[in-house]
Amino acid sequence: MLNDKHILITGASSGIGFETAIQCANQGAFVYLAGRNQDRLAALQKRIKNALLLPYDVCDEQQVKQAFVQIKQTGKPFHGLVNCAGVMLDAGFAMTRISDLQQQLNVNTVSAYLHSQLASRLMTRKREGSIVNLCSIVGEQGSAGQTAYATSKSALSGLTRSLSKELGKLNVRVNGVAPGFIDTPMTNGYEDAAKQNIIDKTALSRMGTPSDVAQLICFLLSKQSNFITGQIIGVDGGLSL
Ligand code: NAD
Repeated sequence: MLNDKHILITGASSGIGFETAIQCANQGAFVYLAGRNQDRLAALQKRIKNALLLPYDVCDEQQVKQAFVQIKQTGKPFHGLVNCAGVMLDAGFAMTRISDLQQQLNVNTVSAYLHSQLASRLMTRKREGSIVNLCSIVGEQGSAGQTAYATSKSALSGLTRSLSKELGKLNVRVNGVAPGFIDTPMTNGYEDAAKQNIIDKTALSRMGTPSDVAQLICFLLSKQSNFITGQIIGVDGGLSL
């Protein structure tokens, strides 16, 4: 589905980003692996033939710009961006410091804005591209105890919809996936009772896997979703029902 497509995935060193990188590569893509953990990225690169490591912090504007210089220098047409890097803060509203909120916004929203800006400049040259943002069910429905995270993810949904309208004429599609409760390092710290509580609210009665989400991301990156843009698509086993 993704033969010869060049795709940048942030947050590639674990969880959904890691699995997405493997699935993209299995479908024929060349993958730029962005993340901070060099060891985990190197381990991932061993499993993928066509990949280039880009170790950087998504909140560091200069590092992000430098990464796009490297991508441009390959001379290959740039097709896809997956904004997957993210952090999730569990904290009551009264206990959330403004610096915490700013960190959630910087990683989850501002970095996606900057990456999309730089990526779309490369995509519009060829008048083709697909941007996929890792939104969240929490950004769509809200979540008590996660106001800062939810704020950042709602903003990401707003970015997704607005950008799809702005870039549509240039044939650059912008979509979001909204995972429910997925088994990754982000949710590893939940106690068993808390996990079970969420599973009980999920129609399919299980946590999602990174693969469940990666399959949707690959579809949105591929030509098979050519007429889909501006959508935030749930992949939540029915948790949002
Ligand atoms: P994860 O913790 O395994 O992955 C997040 C990745 O982002 C990590 O590799 C982390 O190192 C990276 N990252 C964080 N800050 C960074 C920074 N400043 N610079 C570079 N990389 C940075 O968790 P995941 O579940 O795979 O999360 C992937 C995305 O999916 C996130 O955006 C998350 O908000 C979203 N999501 C996850 C769930 C879930 O249940 N796991 C639900 C909804 C949305």
